[in-house]
Amino acid sequence: MIREQQHTLPDEIFKVIFENSPGSLLVKADAPWFTIMAASDGYLKITSSVRENILGRSFFEVFPDGNSNPDDVASARHVFTKVAETGLKVDIPYYKYNVYNANTQTYDVRFWSCSNIPFSCGNKVAYILNVVVDITAEVNARQAAMESENRLRLAAEATGFATFDWDLNDEKRYCSPQLAELLGYPADTALTSTDVFNMIHPDDKATVVNAFNEAFKTGIYCYDVRIIWPDSSLHWISIRGKQIPGEGKNCARILGTVLDITESKSDEIRKNDFIAMASHELKTPLTSIKSYIQILAKKLVNTDDSFVINALSKANLQINKMTDLIHGFLDLSRLESGKLPVKPEQFDINELISDTVTEFTQALNSHIINFDSHGVLNVYADRDKIGQVISNFLSNATKYSPRGSTITIMSKTTDCDISVSVTDLGVGIKLKDQKKLFQRFYRVDSDKTMTVSGFGIGLYLSSEIIQRHNGKIGVESTEGEGSTFYFSLPVSPPL
Ligand code: ADP
Repeated sequence: MIREQQHTLPDEIFKVIFENSPGSLLVKADAPWFTIMAASDGYLKITSSVRENILGRSFFEVFPDGNSNPDDVASARHVFTKVAETGLKVDIPYYKYNVYNANTQTYDVRFWSCSNIPFSCGNKVAYILNVVVDITAEVNARQAAMESENRLRLAAEATGFATFDWDLNDEKRYCSPQLAELLGYPADTALTSTDVFNMIHPDDKATVVNAFNEAFKTGIYCYDVRIIWPDSSLHWISIRGKQIPGEGKNCARILGTVLDITESKSDEIRKNDFIAMASHELKTPLTSIKSYIQILAKKLVNTDDSFVINALSKANLQINKMTDLIHGFLDLSRLESGKLPVKPEQFDINELISDTVTEFTQALNSHIINFDSHGVLNVYADRDKIGQVISNFLSNATKYSPRGSTITIMSKTTDCDISVSVTDLGVGIKLKDQKKLFQRFYRVDSDKTMTVSGFGIGLYLSSEIIQRHNGKIGVESTEGEGSTFYFSLPVSPPL
């Protein structure tokens, strides 16, 4: 049996479908009125209108042109007329039409996109289906993004930094126009990665490679290097960036800023040169004062004048403190100018610790220093520099713990490293400070430590020395209970 097929939808069903469609309005092509014949629920919702109030009325009576120019090609009158006359569909991807808000009794700014589809009866357009989409949220988001981009651009122009976005998957790079200027070229000059890399000072190229490899581990891309401009002048730039992980933890992009720091670097270099020069000049008279004190001490070895003995010993102590300070400054300037060489040799670290402890106990008798040496522990390292690290740990332990308290030094070895730790029962260090202690000039800002003299360079130097030995340095501490500073060195390679 052949089933009777129905090809046309009953009017009622069509009405339900239409009224449930999103943002649809059917107008009659009876120019100049364009009478509203039907509106979907979605349309009523987004235009804040009521069906009974708009059906049978002219579109322009319900939605007056307002302040829009009727000659505007995007105006509804222009569009409807065009669709009615040509029988062609007209899309308006973006226009503004403010909607009256009965609650606030003001007009809300709204942005729309619409499609106007003709429906013909015979060879004449009878109806126009006007389908609208409210795109206010997208437009606002786009405007906010543009504003933030503008703000960033203005900030970059004002402060002189350039930005870059480097896609590592397809090697695409976006650089702001200022980048070329920072490299000595006119703004917007197209420079390839190789051009930029070739401008880096030969001694600093390794820094860039290391920073790139480091970014994969830490997510932070950060370094300062010298670059040689096309006019052969030398400039410093500072790169600060972030690695954005891609899928499967692959590094996908590096985003960051570039800043010319030539001026501040020159200031820093001048300051370092001054410290180096002043320390060097102070070293000679200090050595001579120390020698005179030693000669005096020898000459007065049989004296029973307790004031003289005490004064000489105190003078010697102060001279030693100043000598240590000056050596610290000299080392700092050597380190900053890349001239702190490591001269490794094979030696017994337990013997070095014993010698340092003896020196300390002879110089100041303020603490009980415990060291249980367990035989010979050979390491392959720079003996003087490792001695400096142990001295710094010990000196800090005496500075930041009460007189008479115990300081414990321990050394131990595992299959892969040899470690040394110095534990005191002193003021201890807050967790937030522990992370920064090894930075240059960092000192804990607390009532308990600020009265103790120091410049915050000892731990920085210690950390640089240990890093140059491929070792590790760290601290464990509880505020008010004490601290343990430790370092470890790789086990000595066979000689
Ligand atoms: P300095 O002691 O000369 O200021 P350091 O670099 O050796 O410089 O130490 C940096 C800071 O770390 C000190 O100022 C102090 O605040 C803190 N510190 C170092 N060792 C200890 C310790 N054993 N106990 C408590 N605080 C310490």
